[in-house]
Amino acid sequence: MSKENQPRLRPEMEALPTYKAGKKVSAVAGLEAFKLSSNENANAPLPSVLEVIYKAATEVNRYPDPFTTQLITALAKKFDIPAEQIATGTGSVGVCQQIVQAVAGAGDEVMFAWRSFEAYPIIATIAGAKSVQVPLRADGGHDLDAMAAAITNRTRVIFICTPNNPTGGIVTQSEVDTFLTKVPNDILVVIDEAYIEFNSDPDAVAGMKTMKAHSNVGVLRTFSKAYGLAGLRVGYFAGPTHIAEAVRKTAVPFGVSNIAQEAAVASLEHEAELFDRVKQIILDRQWFEDELAAIGFDTPPSQANFVWLPLGARTDEFTKACEGIAVAIRPFSGEGVRISIGEREAMQRVIEAAKPFAS
Ligand SMILES: *Cc1c(COP(=O)(O)O)cnc(C)c1O
Repeated sequence: MSKENQPRLRPEMEALPTYKAGKKVSAVAGLEAFKLSSNENANAPLPSVLEVIYKAATEVNRYPDPFTTQLITALAKKFDIPAEQIATGTGSVGVCQQIVQAVAGAGDEVMFAWRSFEAYPIIATIAGAKSVQVPLRADGGHDLDAMAAAITNRTRVIFICTPNNPTGGIVTQSEVDTFLTKVPNDILVVIDEAYIEFNSDPDAVAGMKTMKAHSNVGVLRTFSKAYGLAGLRVGYFAGPTHIAEAVRKTAVPFGVSNIAQEAAVASLEHEAELFDRVKQIILDRQWFEDELAAIGFDTPPSQANFVWLPLGARTDEFTKACEGIAVAIRPFSGEGVRISIGEREAMQRVIEAAKPFAS
């Protein structure tokens, strides 16, 4: 059928890449398959959280609370901010989309560092807005001076991803403080802290504190990574009241299920237990980085639950090698691979596979 005879799409759709979710690999003879490609938490949910999930499952004939009141109340208490400043959504990707829909339209600009979170350009395009991608510095950090210089009168929102996905480094408080002096007050700056619970660098920007001190700063957080609820899709925004209100308006109605809300609230109640697991992931990350250094890799220090290996032209070759040992990792062809901190056995295998790739 010729194109003229088909229902028409918006022209933006042609250019829209499909979101590449982390792949699974097939088991290889005698080897259990592992997935280190999506930065998931390899731990099963806490038994106490599972119990809440089972209980909430008995009520799925009812619509959930469209205002996620319980969760917003719990978050307001945790961060000591008014509930009006919080909005939830279906994962922080969902919330990110709600933010862009709320602040940017045709011809507006959405700025972020590159390489960074792959959802940003997709979300900008869906809104009809233009992505302004500012290259990372050579050390993998955000080039906030260049980002400030790239601001125009069409800039509506700037995302700062810290720790950055996929390179793992943080942006410091002083870098952000300086940056904010250069950003006009009518531009929203969103600090995406999807991995903040894994950070152990005291110089890293504190999103909530920064948000409280500025009228144009918001924070994006998720229950998918440290809290281990990726499959339930729940995340949130905290920021200026009128932005939070707009972000609630652009949400898919009833998007956050009751199961997701109850599990998130239970996870906040059991945070100490969950954060013990996060501590172990940080130790595993240190071990993994040390092992990689021992075989000759110079990886940028990570403050997230993954490590970036800048393999350049050998990226695809390495990804193939990992498939051969039944471990899925996340390749960025021509640039490098992102390897999530997960099962020890999988990481051991990756280290063995990495030896011939070390410089
Ligand atoms: C994983 C991730 C998110 C959130 O994912 P959700 O599962 O949608 O909450 C947000 N930002 C970054 C940078 C991420 O890597």
